[in-house]
Amino acid sequence: MIYRSTRSHDWQVSAAQAIIQGLAPDGGLFVPEEFPAAFTEDELKDLFSLSYQELAEKVLSRFLTDYSPEQLHEIVKGAYGDQWDDDRIAPVSEERGGNYFLELFHGPTLAFKDIALQCLPRLMKTALEIQHDSHEIVILTATSGDTGTAAMRGFSQLDKTRVIVFYPYQGVAPIQLKQMLSESGGNTVAIAVKGNFDQAQTNVKRIFSDKEFGAELNEHGFAFSSANSMNVGRLLPQVVYYFYAYGQLVKRGIVQAGGLVNFSVPTGNFGDILAGYYAKKLGLPVGKLICASNKNKVLTDFFKTGIYNKNREFYVTNSPSMDILVSSNLERLLFDICQDPATVKGLMAELNEKGRYQLPKAMYEKLGTFAADFATPAEIEGEIKRVYAASGYVIDPHTAVASLAAHRFKKQDGAHPTVVLSTASPYKFPETVYHAISGLEVKRAGMPALKQLTDFTHYLPKSIEKFLGHTGAETVIEASDMPAEVKQILGI
Ligand SMILES: *Cc1c(COP(=O)(O)O)cnc(C)c1O
Repeated sequence: MIYRSTRSHDWQVSAAQAIIQGLAPDGGLFVPEEFPAAFTEDELKDLFSLSYQELAEKVLSRFLTDYSPEQLHEIVKGAYGDQWDDDRIAPVSEERGGNYFLELFHGPTLAFKDIALQCLPRLMKTALEIQHDSHEIVILTATSGDTGTAAMRGFSQLDKTRVIVFYPYQGVAPIQLKQMLSESGGNTVAIAVKGNFDQAQTNVKRIFSDKEFGAELNEHGFAFSSANSMNVGRLLPQVVYYFYAYGQLVKRGIVQAGGLVNFSVPTGNFGDILAGYYAKKLGLPVGKLICASNKNKVLTDFFKTGIYNKNREFYVTNSPSMDILVSSNLERLLFDICQDPATVKGLMAELNEKGRYQLPKAMYEKLGTFAADFATPAEIEGEIKRVYAASGYVIDPHTAVASLAAHRFKKQDGAHPTVVLSTASPYKFPETVYHAISGLEVKRAGMPALKQLTDFTHYLPKSIEKFLGHTGAETVIEASDMPAEVKQILGI
């Protein structure tokens, strides 16, 4: 299968090449030239009885045609092995507060990024073999918190790869920071950048598209790639769990095969929810995809009006992994609904120059699969409390955004079961969660808050213990120094 850029006809590559490069040289994102055929009804029925690993092989093989079945088998086996604390990998909860929660946080760093980032490094390693590429891959990534840790964990110890993570200084949660600093070392490093996530992400994109910089790196045997959801190898593993969630509902008799299911997705960079859109294109009976934002509600406004406008105040909220004003993966959706790279390029240029663009009417009318809503920090706490009071179930602040959106949506249109994507363990965000469920004040952010939460719930996820005692120092730089920092780290 051929992948192409969303912004021009100039870049046509294999899946392996797309995964190695991360981003197309014209700044566009790689998308399938021709979307794979949808599963038939009979094929779908068979999928719903598979294990997570078997399902992953089936779904990935539709997109990654230059990988052999044996290669995909090994990749999936390694990615979804015993580093997960639940052998279903992505279990669906009982009904809690009116909805079902797809728990995507059972991996080593307790956030849904693990689903993709346990897989991407293995996809990349095999891609290098397929391409007979001998470069050392440098993964440059901007993170709003969870990608950084998950990428560092996923790539750690992997031959011929380096990971450099940039995160906004004082813009990630205390536990996220501790995790990143404790993962630092060997082939991975995390650097704080003064500014917010969007500034860090913009600079990473700039470094990527700097041809001179790229050439200099090549001379030294390095090549850049990305572990952000801009990389198609990160996006595709996420398609799997939509099928898996649906299959679990079928098995329990909550929906009959073929019946519609809604998914409510806490959204930042638009990767997770785009994977749901791809699942629907592959034939999964998805009703609505509810795009749930926090107070940085660019996407809510976009779906309501067709205008994307990032010229607005940026809020640091209690759901930091969604504190994003430029959702990179939306570009793939735009491409899908117009199929015209010139149009996408024009819209992205407008976004770059004016900070806003308006969709042509014909494109806007094609967004009917999506509903959109947002939650303020206070509403997030309220929703954590509501679900806990209704069912004793503890959810994290990001999940709460989607849970609230689903809850409100149900009131207007309650016909179908709704799955809320639960993207992080509540123990990563104890400050907000403890306050919400106990009504008591947190003594101090970070470890003291975590202790209060674990004392309250009598539970602590195993993988969190590892970095509890860690006290590393941060490296803090100006955003303009990012290119120089990269060179210094690589010793060139
Ligand atoms: C990354 C992240 C999100 C947002 O996912 P996108 O794919 O960027 O839309 C939501 N919740 C958590 C906990 C995350 O780590």
